[in-house]
Amino acid sequence: MTKDFSQNRTLQILKDAATRKYGVLAAIAYNIEQLTALVRAAEAKRSPLIIQLFPSTLKQLPTLAFAAAAAVTQASVPISLHIDHAQDVDHIREIIATIPVDSVMVDMSHYDMAENLEKTKILAKECHDKGIAVEAESGRINGGEDGIADTGDLEALFTTPEDVDNFLAAGIDILAPSIGNLHGDYGPAGPAPGQLHFDRLESINKQINNRVHIALHGTNDFSPEIMRKCIDNGALKLNVNKLLLEVWNEHLRKHAAGTPLVTLLDDGMQILQKETEKFMDICGSSGKA
Ligand SMILES: [Zn+2]
Repeated sequence: MTKDFSQNRTLQILKDAATRKYGVLAAIAYNIEQLTALVRAAEAKRSPLIIQLFPSTLKQLPTLAFAAAAAVTQASVPISLHIDHAQDVDHIREIIATIPVDSVMVDMSHYDMAENLEKTKILAKECHDKGIAVEAESGRINGGEDGIADTGDLEALFTTPEDVDNFLAAGIDILAPSIGNLHGDYGPAGPAPGQLHFDRLESINKQINNRVHIALHGTNDFSPEIMRKCIDNGALKLNVNKLLLEVWNEHLRKHAAGTPLVTLLDDGMQILQKETEKFMDICGSSGKA
């Protein structure tokens, strides 16, 4: 039975972004204050938003996903809940059975290609049967993030046209290509000139031809110009972590010792909200909700 995806929040958000040609922030939250600031930014900017939690955060803070799910249903703008880089088959099955998520990144990129595709196909069907959309990474994006297996000792692999065909055949809904993007830091100057293959992104987008949506991972240190160039070449879902959260981290580093806790958190939420609003403007999602 083919699942009716007309009500899937993540896909509805990305479909509108594809039609009206803008990018949507898919922002990581590690705690309730960050979650709250992200949602406030979306409502203040009348912008759609995808909230992302890492599998490690689900284990560290088991109730956070339910707070996020409540925020999704109560927000006055379209917001969805996505689990980023789910790499463990049993955990993926537990997540889709117990948490009201809209989409999951089924990341089997630590397996060889045949096994990756086989596992992705099986899990995609299990997610779809529950109305949950699936993202997968083609090629290999190097580097590590919190709780994510570091692929640094493996060779980075650019996404090929064959990869695109294979992952589409596996039944995914969102493709995260490897175009020279990295998990982790590029350095203060951002990606080096030529490091990101925009021509490859553009040709992947043409090949996909609206059958699935494109997510871009590894946006630390991105300038507004690079962000816009990725969106212009077909990236709709912009995974952001430190790009937004560094202002929060910086605030805590500077003020934690001398500020009462409630004030510290309130100020941090305001700072993160403003930073998120800035990037909603940059992505062109402001005013689209
Ligand atoms: Zn990623």
